[in-house]
Amino acid sequence: MNIFEKCESNVRSYCRNFPTIFHRAKGSIVYDESGQEYIDFFAGAGALNYGHNHDYIKNQIISYLNADGISHGLDMYTSAKEKFLAKFNETVLTAKQLDYRIQFCGPTGTNAVEAALKLARKVKKNPGIFSFMGAYHGMTLGSLAITANKGIKAGTIGTLNNVTFMPYPYGFMESFDTIKYIDSVLNDVNSGIEKPAAIIFETVQAEGGVIVAPIEWMQRLRKLCDEHDILLICDDIQVGCGRTGAFFSFERAGIVPDMVILSKSISGYGLPMSLLLIKPELDIWEPGEHNGTFRGNQLAFIGATAALEYRESSSLELDVKEKELFLKEFLNQEIAAISENIIIRGIGMIWGIDVQNFGGKNFAKSITSRCFELGLIVETAGRNDTVIKILPPLVIDMFTLQKGCLILKQAFKDCLQ
Ligand code: PMP
Repeated sequence: MNIFEKCESNVRSYCRNFPTIFHRAKGSIVYDESGQEYIDFFAGAGALNYGHNHDYIKNQIISYLNADGISHGLDMYTSAKEKFLAKFNETVLTAKQLDYRIQFCGPTGTNAVEAALKLARKVKKNPGIFSFMGAYHGMTLGSLAITANKGIKAGTIGTLNNVTFMPYPYGFMESFDTIKYIDSVLNDVNSGIEKPAAIIFETVQAEGGVIVAPIEWMQRLRKLCDEHDILLICDDIQVGCGRTGAFFSFERAGIVPDMVILSKSISGYGLPMSLLLIKPELDIWEPGEHNGTFRGNQLAFIGATAALEYRESSSLELDVKEKELFLKEFLNQEIAAISENIIIRGIGMIWGIDVQNFGGKNFAKSITSRCFELGLIVETAGRNDTVIKILPPLVIDMFTLQKGCLILKQAFKDCLQ
């Protein structure tokens, strides 16, 4: 039985992209069953900012298990939850002078997106949501409705109504004033578009092809929401928890969204956890109105607390800055130099190599396949999968980061021969 037959006989997996059986992982390296090493530039699509099996986080989880800590607490208050809340309040919210209430949601990102949509509708008594072209928010019916990709929605036969997609400042929209456009649509009785309860946005459209929102654009978006009395929701699932440098990706614009969604790396260890931060005046849920069996995984609380402790004691944010400079320089000098049709975009430790207009239809996929053969795991994103998305763990050491980048360069060379 070959690897494809073995992996896809009764499950769906990523085996077509990465034809091997992965077995263990440490830091930024993943090993397959035969012991072959792969540098990880995928990091669980942003769930592994602290790398695989981070020593400090892992040891905290092991100690908790050894002490017979509560394994599942439903919605009960537990010491693991209490500790997480104390640490999160102290090192994130209070430290940044942010006033949010915390709603634990189901295990995964899309659950918190659903909670945000439900709450926005309840607060504003309005079902309308504006999302953006290129947006990705998840796979359940509500989050899928605000995801812009028509391809992945095609088989669903309809999602939520009342969703309108607005232009995001990317590529061909760069010279178009999208905020002015939204403002005029809202002011024009003849636009046919009703005022929504909320606007949901990503500061970097990651799945959308690493499109970075300009700071001024985010500030104007906040102002627009204030002027029209619309809630602003930031989906920080993929680029939150330090990916862009600061803990929250919107910090660089100095704005405060009304709701913020976190998941992926919040648990520090790839454990399922998602939460919604809500401005206190919006917290109008009745007790039990939004619940769920796996709302708040106890091991994830332990991992998340340990991750915050690690952040506090390390120079993670400064290190991200240094690695950002390296990535920016390397990608511009070594990859963009190949052709003016290759576009590099990114911030912090999320970068995209856009080959939409270079190398032919499946070029990005050929690069990721060749990278895999050479020992690097990297994925594609964006329109028709034409962007190579670079997303290493934040804790990757400089040597491994450079090694991974050299593999990328080699893959370009090999694919262009
Ligand atoms: N929003 C964003 C920005 C994401 O990147 C993702 C996952 N790629 C989601 C929502 C959905 O999260 P999950 O897959 O955990 O449901």
